[in-house]
Amino acid sequence: MPGTRVFDYLIVGGGLAAASAVDGIREVDQISTIGLLTEESEPPYQRPPLSKEFLQYEDVPRSLLYVKPEGWFEEQERVELITRQKALVLDPVAMSVTTARGNVFGASRILIATGGRARQIQIPGYDLEGVFTLRTVADSEAIRAAAVLGSRAVLIGAGFVGMELAASLTAHDVTSTVLEAGDRVWARTLPPELSRWMRKHYEEKGVSFRLGSVVNRFVGQGTVEAVEVGAESLPCDMVVVGVGMDPCDGIAGDAGLAVADGILVDTFGETSHPHIYAAGDVARFPDPVFGGNTRVEHWEHAREHGRLVGRNMAGEKEPYELLSYFFSRVFDLSLDAVGRPAQADETVVWGEPGEGPCATFGLSEGRLCAVVLLDAPEELEAGRALVRERVSAKLLYDVTRRDEVSLRDLARLATEYRDRDPGTGDSNE
Ligand SMILES: Cc1cc2nc3c(=O)[nH]c(=O)nc-3n(C[C@H](O)[C@H](O)[C@H](O)COP(=O)(O)OP(=O)(O)OC[C@H]3O[C@@H](n4cnc5c(N)ncnc54)[C@H](O)[C@@H]3O)c2cc1C
Repeated sequence: MPGTRVFDYLIVGGGLAAASAVDGIREVDQISTIGLLTEESEPPYQRPPLSKEFLQYEDVPRSLLYVKPEGWFEEQERVELITRQKALVLDPVAMSVTTARGNVFGASRILIATGGRARQIQIPGYDLEGVFTLRTVADSEAIRAAAVLGSRAVLIGAGFVGMELAASLTAHDVTSTVLEAGDRVWARTLPPELSRWMRKHYEEKGVSFRLGSVVNRFVGQGTVEAVEVGAESLPCDMVVVGVGMDPCDGIAGDAGLAVADGILVDTFGETSHPHIYAAGDVARFPDPVFGGNTRVEHWEHAREHGRLVGRNMAGEKEPYELLSYFFSRVFDLSLDAVGRPAQADETVVWGEPGEGPCATFGLSEGRLCAVVLLDAPEELEAGRALVRERVSAKLLYDVTRRDEVSLRDLARLATEYRDRDPGTGDSNE
């Protein structure tokens, strides 16, 4: 095609998965050309600090967020970072991508790593100034600027964005009210018992919650001044809507690739079209532990999936088997979660939340489905191994009765039981 710039590998999207894919390709193939196309003006950057340190401190430069050191892309041979180019059309037959500016890029292998966008809600007043969502570095800067001037925030959604922001905004002396349609906070990340404790912990720090609340509208003259919930009006200086994200899978769907809330890929990261791959938040992949297909929005997953799919694009054939974890830091707490806490129908807690290391086990139908650690990051690998084993409630309770058992002991025991009685994790003793 005339005017087409051709690379060996074309990566669409400029986040962590994309940057990690460059590493993955280079681990296998040091010679071929790589083009990385992003709609943003920045090189790939880390998003977790956007709701934490970057928001809390006023003078953090953007470059501290970069996945690669400043100037890294320019120094690489045969790697080109192409910013401010939004991919609009994917042609799987021509193996090309056309951007909003009308540029065409071709490649023999294409990776879609377009992540997601903050979900929008359709309610009156959504377009008022002072109403934000949070996904990009510009969003975080805008929220920070509003927090410096304001003192009252209403946060819509008690998921990770709402919960992390409520904690971070206290650094600017902004008091938050969190509105949540469901009946508990952080429901996707915490089992019910921990969710209740977390709510109390936040309330002690001055954050208020309205559970079971659905917003009617945002009110203000140009700038938001209040949020209407039922018959009540909550005055505020700013609103952040944190109700989840939608995967940017449109270009794949329009091109006829299989899409279902994310781009469907196999265990190697390949889509329904040969030589076109997807990785990170946008990809729906075969779940190595729970079965079926899943899509996760974890920093570790974006990094490891991006890298592995990059390697596979370059000729490897490695299945994706990671059970990734989600981390968070709120107030004085560190939180690490593995598995599917929302599915838990039973919870076992080791330790006292907020009083040193604490592990919460979520069980579903008698098997472990999640481990959530508070202030115990060193137990992450043990927790991960236990969820992988899907250990039984019986083993967990047997071991809990003994004194002084650590998570690592438990993980070791689970492996021993598995070796003795493959497939159940049960003790026959
Ligand atoms: C505020 C925030 C805090 C987070 N905190 C945590 C945390 O504490 N712990 C944790 O485990 N995870 C956290 N996450 C999740 C983690 O950051 C994501 O899982 C990770 O960023 C996903 O990386 P990605 O590369 O798949 O997608 P993204 O980071 O979304 O990157 C996709 C990129 O593609 C670009 N793009 C999209 N469409 C196009 C197009 N058509 N053309 C060109 N470019 C395009 C986008 O602009 C973007 O730059 C957080 C996320 C956010 C938003």
